[in-house]
Amino acid sequence: MNLRINDNFLLLPESYLFSEVARRVKDFQDANPEVKVIRMGIGDVTRPLCKAAIEAMYRAVEDESKTETFHGYGPEQGYSFLRDKIADYDYGRRGIDIRPEEIFIGDGAKSDLGNFFDILAQDLTVAVTDPVYPVYVDTNVMGGRGGKRNGEHHDGIIYIPVNKANGYVPQLPEQCPDVIYLCSPNNPTGTAMTRDELRKWVEYARENGCLILFDSAYEAYIHSSDVPHSIYEIEGAKDVAVEFRSFSKTAGFTGIRCGYTVVPFALKGKDSNGNEVSLNRLWNRRQCTKFNGASYISQRAAEAVYSPEGRKQIMETVEYYMGNACMMREALSGAGYEIAGGIDSPYIWLRTPDGMTSWEFFDFLLKTHGIVGTPGSGFGAEGEGYLRLTAFNTHEATREALQRIHNA
Ligand SMILES: *Cc1c(COP(=O)(O)O)cnc(C)c1O
Repeated sequence: MNLRINDNFLLLPESYLFSEVARRVKDFQDANPEVKVIRMGIGDVTRPLCKAAIEAMYRAVEDESKTETFHGYGPEQGYSFLRDKIADYDYGRRGIDIRPEEIFIGDGAKSDLGNFFDILAQDLTVAVTDPVYPVYVDTNVMGGRGGKRNGEHHDGIIYIPVNKANGYVPQLPEQCPDVIYLCSPNNPTGTAMTRDELRKWVEYARENGCLILFDSAYEAYIHSSDVPHSIYEIEGAKDVAVEFRSFSKTAGFTGIRCGYTVVPFALKGKDSNGNEVSLNRLWNRRQCTKFNGASYISQRAAEAVYSPEGRKQIMETVEYYMGNACMMREALSGAGYEIAGGIDSPYIWLRTPDGMTSWEFFDFLLKTHGIVGTPGSGFGAEGEGYLRLTAFNTHEATREALQRIHNA
């Protein structure tokens, strides 16, 4: 067959991070069957869904069983019972005016983050932080914006280092991108941007005419009062930012699938004749054409998360994980490790000791303590010399892991 493929896919590096982690863990476990390996690299929630969401799903299934309450195709943008709740609870009650029509319900943040470029010109310059959530880079490479691959980097992408030297705060780049991805609280560094830090970015975007794609998947984990929950807490952000949210980490929906994207009416792009076009209008058109809505059952579950019981239950789970994060911060800094994160996110970003590489430290933790982390170098060149630990394990396993480090 002479069928041509999208060559851009061949520019993607093999994603071997998690398979290599799994291989090394298996080799170790085979050689040391008596060691109970503790997994601190888990990038998924582990606690069950809250009762309010489960009960809402049972009711939604019941609805689907009767002609009178059956729901077939729903609105592509999401049901208004959910969009109204989001506009009220996540925005209105925080003093932010977001209309339900500016909110698009989807099947999670990853798809929307990956699809958003459908409505933008295909040759824009893109900036990401380094280390980075790989979805931002890989989807741009697939879309032909990566340029040539050059070691760890792609020539066409602007990388903004986030490391100890800058206190894990992304600094404004000299070269101005058309689009910049920001993730706060951040995966993988676990750190979060304060209101003042984010304000600089909003002002920069307004001055330079660039679009911020703001990923706040970990919003529910924020504990610091100077860390904004939404980019729209910053004045003027509605003119320059799209916000991506998800029920995945907030409410344990990684397997249920539901998230949403906010595209404010104020957000305008330009067509090739220089005329202003509403991004909300284009995203709506895109969704109506390529997406048929998140399932009725998922959306009923998401709605239940906003009930008084639902809110209480999901916050109990968030606090369960954050209890682990707190223990980890204390024990690891007590053991002399340099750490970041774990205050506004379930991730701890650990500096490797004695100049070890990320993989050397990974092997050390595995072989000496039977603990599995994720090598920071897997998230970008600037992640070299770091390791990511997550707070998604049980209290018991987390405590035991920390005890092993303490007793060493
Ligand atoms: C987990 C995660 C998401 C959410 O992905 P879903 O598709 O909604 O499950 C988004 N961004 C980051 C950085 C994440 O870690």
